[in-house]
Order: sequence, then structure tokens, then C-alpha cells
Amino acid sequence: MWIPVLVSGVEPLTSPVPSGWWVHLCPILGVVRTGILGGTFDPIHMAHLHAGETALYQAELERVLFMPAGEPWQKSDRVLTGAAHRLEMIRLAIADTDGFAIDDRELEREGPTYTIDTLLSFPETEELSLILGADAALGLPTWHRWEEVVDRVSLLVVPRPGTDAREVQTVLPEAVFLDMAVLEISGTEIREMARIGEPFRFLVPLAVHDYIEDLGLYAESGGDDMVGGSSDQEEGS
Ligand code: ATP
Ligand code: MG
Repeated sequence: MWIPVLVSGVEPLTSPVPSGWWVHLCPILGVVRTGILGGTFDPIHMAHLHAGETALYQAELERVLFMPAGEPWQKSDRVLTGAAHRLEMIRLAIADTDGFAIDDRELEREGPTYTIDTLLSFPETEELSLILGADAALGLPTWHRWEEVVDRVSLLVVPRPGTDAREVQTVLPEAVFLDMAVLEISGTEIREMARIGEPFRFLVPLAVHDYIEDLGLYAESGGDDMVGGSSDQEEGS
């Protein structure tokens, strides 16, 4: 079924939505409908969580996996917070949320992580959707073996301030936009707020906020366990 989806500020886009009969048949056929939301999650914040929930609901997924990137190759410009902290913040954020789970397979892998390798590690019977912010979606054609990525998944794109949805549609005509509020929140901004002591309590789940503050994770001196990094799932892949 094709329905028009309105992304704020742009023309309505036409998007494929799973038709009801197929979604109902999946459990009977043993087909798992999985969304993958990858990123550095440094830290995880409300826009990630809202995007995950919207994808579950609008694309009728069975589950959304929050997949922290190990060594994002497109992020070699910045030192990432240690994987153990990023993982713990995701755990705190999604605790007991139906349909949400953590997948740490990219943290287990040595060296640069490529989304295509991650996707190929799922059973072929699993129906995969890749959930990407519009900024990350625009960068997808720079990912390693990106055509194979696009062949393997459905692309669910989250509107993001600063990225024109029509540009994404030009680059990736098969992309489907989630119909959700545009949230101007970023990890970069939260790290900076924490560093200079500005309040950010309502931009992340409270438990994540307290974890950051208790450990002084983004404080000037802070963040013991830091590692360098470079994957493609970072700004997407
Ligand atoms: P950073 O500023 O450190 O890059 P980030 O907020 O972009 O942090 P990431 O972990 O890089 O968070 O993003 C993971 C995924 O979530 C990416 O696909 C990114 O585009 C998407 N995303 C993050 N924040 C938003 C947002 N506010 N709106 C839409 N998508 C978002
Ligand atoms: Mg980012």
C-alpha cells in the first residue's frame, strides 16, 4: 500500500507502508521484522528513542535493535567515549521498553565496522529495516558496498533539522520517511552542555542524565575509558 507522508516543511512524500496481511503472516511464517538503529550513542538521547518507537509503530516492526558502533570509520575526527559507557547508557535508556533491545555485535568486532558485514550476519529470513537520521541517509552512498546495503534492507529515514528531505529522496528514492516531529537534539550538543554545566536533564532519560553527571563523563577533564574510533554506521553505516 502507498500512502503520502508529510514531512514538515516539504512536499508530501509517497512512501510504501507494509500491508496488513503480510505483517500478520510474518509470525506464522517465522519471519522477524527487525529495525536496526545504529549510531555512536555518545550519548543516547530522546530523538533516538522517539525514532525507534515511531519506527516500531509506523513500519509495524517486531523489534528495534539499538546497535552501538564500535569503531566508526567515518568518525575518526573525534575521540569516542568508551564502548562500555555508551552501552550502559543504552541499557539504562531502554530498560523494560517493549520492542526495544540492544545489539552489541559491532562492539565485538575488531577493526573498522561496515554495515554490510553487520547486515549479512543476520539470517536471510529476517526482514531488516535500517533506521537512519536524514543526515546519515544522505551519506549512505559513501558507505562500503552501499548498493548491497540498500538491497538488503528497507530504509526508514528520520527527519532531521538541517537536512532537506527532498535531497534524501533524490539520492535514495527507495527511502521511506517516518512521519514524526523534527527534534533538534544531538549528541554533540548534549556533550557540550554537560561539559559547560548547562542543564540537559530532559534531553535524555533521567537515568542516562544521572549516569553522565555521576561519572562526569563529558566534563572537561573527564571520561576515563576513552577510545579513538573510526564504522560506517556512524554517520550511518
Ligand atoms: P553526534 O552529534 O555525536 O553525531 P547524534 O545525535 O547524531 O550524535 P548518533 O549516535 O550519531 O547521534 O546518531 C545515530 C542515528 O540517529 C543516526 O542515524 C542519526 O542521524 C540519528 N539521529 C540522531 N539524532 C537525531 C535527531 N535529532 N533527529 C533525527 N535523527 C537523529
Ligand atoms: Mg551523528
